[in-house]
This record gives sequence, structure tokens and C-alpha cells, in this order.
Amino acid sequence: MQEISPLVVAQRQLDMAATKLELDPNIHAILREPARVLEVNFPVRMDDGTVKVFKGYRAQHNNAIGPAKGGVRFHPQVTLEEVKALSMWMTFKCGVLGLPYGGGKGGVVVDPTTLSRGELERLSRAYIGAISPLIGPDQDIPAPDVNTNPQIMAWMMDEFSKYKGGITYPGVVTGKPIIVGGSLGRGEATGRGCVIAVREAAKRLGIKLQGAIGVVQGFGNVGSATARFLAKEGVKIIAIMEVDGGIFNAEGIDPEKLIAYREKAGTITTYPGSRPIDNQELFALECDVLVPAALENQITAENAGEIKAKLIVEAANGPTTPEADEILARRGICLVPDILANAGGVTVSYFEWVQNFMNYYWTEEEVNSRLEQKMVEAFACIYQMSQDYGVEMRMAAYMVSIARLAEAIRVRGWA
Ligand code: NAD
Repeated sequence: MQEISPLVVAQRQLDMAATKLELDPNIHAILREPARVLEVNFPVRMDDGTVKVFKGYRAQHNNAIGPAKGGVRFHPQVTLEEVKALSMWMTFKCGVLGLPYGGGKGGVVVDPTTLSRGELERLSRAYIGAISPLIGPDQDIPAPDVNTNPQIMAWMMDEFSKYKGGITYPGVVTGKPIIVGGSLGRGEATGRGCVIAVREAAKRLGIKLQGAIGVVQGFGNVGSATARFLAKEGVKIIAIMEVDGGIFNAEGIDPEKLIAYREKAGTITTYPGSRPIDNQELFALECDVLVPAALENQITAENAGEIKAKLIVEAANGPTTPEADEILARRGICLVPDILANAGGVTVSYFEWVQNFMNYYWTEEEVNSRLEQKMVEAFACIYQMSQDYGVEMRMAAYMVSIARLAEAIRVRGWA
């Protein structure tokens, strides 16, 4: 299978929406590429005394509406093209939710499982030091993504603060531990938001979630929280996939128990009562809701024809290629796009940033109810647009977001 560049996918999605909107070609050109990208190569002292040089990136796609916002990914396959694409999707995601941000994204080419805790800390600090001229609470605000977590955010915030004369800047990153300015509810916000999207879509499609069948690819931060919230809605999760293998049980898998099991066993693949399953079989399972929650390019022209789900909700960024989108649309499968479905994370990151500026912190109930309101409103707006224009929800989401961005670009006088 030929790997499709995520940047080509993101640009193609933009081009299609631009055509539909008859977008000013100058605004289209501005949105086709990130405004700024930085490549850094920085040394890290390893535990054995040697020094290794790591490569990292930060892309800022657009700041017409506000500072750049987006996660940092630690992964061996990180590329500049991937980071650029992810920064574009962040701009459009913030536009869909009406957040006062543009898109940013960062990544380091590293397999973090090969690092000790000390090496991981030194790498996280060195990366943030290397990109420090470009970031800041009013400029660009990183957050967790694949293989990064609240502890890493705390190191990054601490390191950035050292660069700024020792003044603590909690608002420079989000997804921090609560004690240093994190927001209650941020850890599971992406999964919570995803399940709000599942619920809103299911309502409109006439799918009853109590007793519905669910399948989840990826059981990390987002996938495991999504699976837990789906189970709370009464969805029976029959299959879950991880990077080292997947599991199937027709009777259902309890996500809470699976999380506890993995904590001890280090893997989900040996979970009692289940049998192994691969990605090909997973995507072809008979189910109501399919949630890709791992990486890009998982639903492609090769497997889209096999999918039997009634509803796909993209917890991951960029899991579906444009060719697969066409096949799914032809087959009448409803897809809630990433820039809407997984926007719960950046929405609560926004709440965290606001709380950091106020230095006043909300209860978890307050955070969750504000998230609920934002997601339900955004879903209704995108769904209505898709009905009014007779387009798929991805196209509708791009149309809503690009219209907002275009207005900001115009009034700022850029085009
Ligand atoms: P994570 O590192 O916590 O989890 C990723 C999971 O995907 C891991 O458990 C890994 O085992 C699994 N995985 C990797 N390759 C796989 C494969 N080929 N098949 C099956 N599973 C595989 O990362 P995360 O934060 O949960 O991010 C997952 C996705 O959600 C990414 O696309 C990310 O950009 C997106 N996302 C994350 C957030 C957030 O708040 N963390 C917000 C919005 C979107």
C-alpha cells in the first residue's frame, strides 16, 4: 500500500471546500501552507554519557484568529509534512469550534519507549528550549499528543519559564498536571467530546446507543477515554486495537477492566476471554460505531469498501483518506470528521489557558458542562450545514471553519 502524505490529504480537503465556497484564491493560497515552520536539531545527554542529536519540528499554520495551538508528538515516524498537515487541521478544528486560536503542531523524531525517564525529561526540555523563540502564551501554545502527557507538559512549562527569567508561564502549554495550572477534565476531554459527537450523530441517525456495538482502534489517551465513555452510554465494545495487536470478544470488553489489566500486564493483547484480531478484520467488523483513535491513513481506498459500521467518528487526526471518504459517502456511511469529533481536547485546552490567565480555576462539572455546550452547538451547526448544502459532514465542517477564517483574513487586510 502506498503511504499518502497527510499534507496532501489536508490540502486536498481544503481545495475541495474552497471550490465549494468559491473562496477568494488569495485566501485559499494563504491557507494551503503553514505560515511558519521551524526545524530543530538538538543534543540530549543519554544515560550512558554519550550525546545524541534529535530532530524536531514546530509548524504554525495560521494566526488570523489567535495564537497557534496544537500538540507535540513524539514518534519515530514524525515528518515535517505530517507536522504541517496536523497544524492545518488544528486551524480548521479551532475554526469549527469558534475558539480564538490558529493551528500549530510539533513533533520529535524519537521512539520514546527506548528512553529512560531521565532521557525523556532531558529530551522534552531540550526540544522546548530549541523552539522557545517561537512559542509563548500569546504566540503558540503546545499541548499533549501521541506519546506525550501531562508530566512532559510540566517539564516543558518549567523549562520555558527558565528561558523567560524564571517567571512561571503556566499558559505556555496546556494539558499540564492540575497542581501546576492544569484544568480538571482535560485528561479525558478528547474522549468525552468524541462521545458527545457519537451521541449527537446517533440521535440523528436513529441509532440507539444502549446495546449498540462499538469498535475502537487505538487505546491510548483518546481511545481509552472514548471506549470508557462509550461503555457508559451502553455501547458494547467488541474489539480494540493497539500498536502491538488487537483483541476481540463478541460478548463485549469492559474498558475499565482492560485499562487495569494493561497497567499490570503492559499490553492488552493477552487480555483473558478475548482472541487476537488484526486491523484488516477490525475495520470489517459488523458494528454500529467505529472509532479510529490511533494515527493517520488508517481508512483508505483499500479497506473503506469493507467497513460495515453505520457511523464512523474520527477520534484520531487524519485517519481517513479523501478516496476513502468518497467510498464511505457512496455507501451511505455517516462520518463525523476529526476537526469536529476530536475537538474536545483543544476546547478544554482553551479552558485551561483561560483559567491560567484568570488564575482562577473551575470545578470539573463547570469544565464538562462548558465542553458539552460547545460540542453540541458545533455539532448542530455542522450537521445543519451538511443538510442545507447536501454535503458530507467533513465538507460542512471545512466550509464553516474556512468561512470564519476568511472573514478574519479579510478584515485584517491580508487578502
Ligand atoms: P497516545 O499516544 O496516548 O495513544 C496512541 C495509541 O495509538 C497508542 O495506544 C498506540 O498503541 C496506538 N497505535 C499506534 N499505532 C497504531 C496502529 N497502527 N494500530 C492500532 N493502534 C495504534 O495518543 P493520543 O493522544 O491518544 O492520540 C491518538 C490520536 O488522537 C492522534 O491522532 C492524535 O493526534 C489525536 N488527538 C489527540 C488529542 C489529545 O488530547 N491527546 C486531541 C485530539 C486528537
